[in-house]
Amino acid sequence: MTTQHGKVLPILQTPENGRYIPTSKEAQTRTWERLYPQFRTPSQSLGQRKAIGCVALEITQRCNLDCTLCYLSEMSESTLDIPLAEVKRRIDEIVYEYGPNTPVQVTGGDPTLRQEDELIEIVRYATERGLHPALLTNGIKATRELLQKLAAVGLRDVAFHVDMTQNLRDEKKRLYVSEEELNVIRKKYIERVRGLGIAVIFNTTLCSTNFHELPMLVRFFRDHADVVGMCSFQLHADTGRGVLRGRPDAIEPRNIIRLINETLGRTINFDVVDIGHPHCNRIGYSFICNRQAYDLWWDPEVINKLYNEFAGITLDRRNPKQAVKTILRHALTHPRLLLKGLPFILVHLWRMKWDLLRSGFKVHKLSFFIHNFMHAECLDPERLDNCAFMVMTPEGPVSMCLHNANRDLYITKEFKVNAGGEEKVFNPVRQHKREYWAKKLPTVQFIQPVRQEEKKAPAEMIVP
Ligand code: SF4
Repeated sequence: MTTQHGKVLPILQTPENGRYIPTSKEAQTRTWERLYPQFRTPSQSLGQRKAIGCVALEITQRCNLDCTLCYLSEMSESTLDIPLAEVKRRIDEIVYEYGPNTPVQVTGGDPTLRQEDELIEIVRYATERGLHPALLTNGIKATRELLQKLAAVGLRDVAFHVDMTQNLRDEKKRLYVSEEELNVIRKKYIERVRGLGIAVIFNTTLCSTNFHELPMLVRFFRDHADVVGMCSFQLHADTGRGVLRGRPDAIEPRNIIRLINETLGRTINFDVVDIGHPHCNRIGYSFICNRQAYDLWWDPEVINKLYNEFAGITLDRRNPKQAVKTILRHALTHPRLLLKGLPFILVHLWRMKWDLLRSGFKVHKLSFFIHNFMHAECLDPERLDNCAFMVMTPEGPVSMCLHNANRDLYITKEFKVNAGGEEKVFNPVRQHKREYWAKKLPTVQFIQPVRQEEKKAPAEMIVP
């Protein structure tokens, strides 16, 4: 296997890829072959259940916030939105690379800053090409009307990023001073999207200024699991133009898992599923019933058996009732599945019995996701080569960590765009910044991944 992690080239680019759209299975097989042998385990979802975790489609570099932990780069505000024709070409590339049903994050900057009709067209086109689009936004401009329009053209998920790194203010321009205060905004967004048939995710960056509030956040998401389907915790990474530096040692996946489980008073198993490199992603699934959490995969063995039985069945997370019906229909027509699955479900029901009665048989699924982004100066090539989260660039997919570490080099690169049958070179750098960037570019070094044994933690990572 050839890897290209050291160059401004997508690590997965396969020039012989051609224009052939692979089936999901073919795309998964390609991913499986990319993974290092030690990660080809029964619990590995990449290459067995999905071709990739997700692909980011950055449709603008502009943002309406100035976060203390911003992953955007110096030149982000000095670049133009890429033409719609190029956005569509990148959507096509995602299909060629990973096949149908691939989750696509429509992101930026904040994608809602893009012209509304263009944003709608992007989501519509991605859906038409068989992808599963999600909107990644800070929520400020994501009105209910806009979300309704996006849902109508196929939007699957909306992921709201709300946290203390954003320096948010209330109507009286007073800064919010804690994550708990920010729950006002989270509740507003929950009501905004309720009933629209879009799966809801909340993203939170965990850093030195908010880590002590993790238990409060876990309780908040547990108590709003009727709408929130996933809470995703992203670990502070030293990359981009943000000003906050240094990730305290306590902010690491195992400690976060411990705190989530202590807060829930239950043990959610975060080791049932791997998504790419085990140091990158951890996920735990729970059922929430009467504000109590239950580990969805209480029997880890059953997951692989059931996944195999459900191969080829697509569940729509936007519509839990429909998903349950699909599962039941499939189970009833496959008696072997009933034999395997029934004891698993009966144990669930028995464990939850009192909470089921107290809640009127209301159960919601809530996933806890931990994404351990890497610092720009500590890129581990092993993790890049087994990455589950790509961004689509003009030259193909690139690991998001590698992209964030070298963002200016990627987003300022010229590319050819075909508009109305005419091919033109598009320079993404705004006119008034071109001279400045032409002078600066030769001084910008591409940040290379560093082998594990050579890696040194920067001094500012150690916080007393
Ligand atoms: S983006 Fe970075 S942290 Fe995320 S899966 Fe890829 S290499 Fe791992």
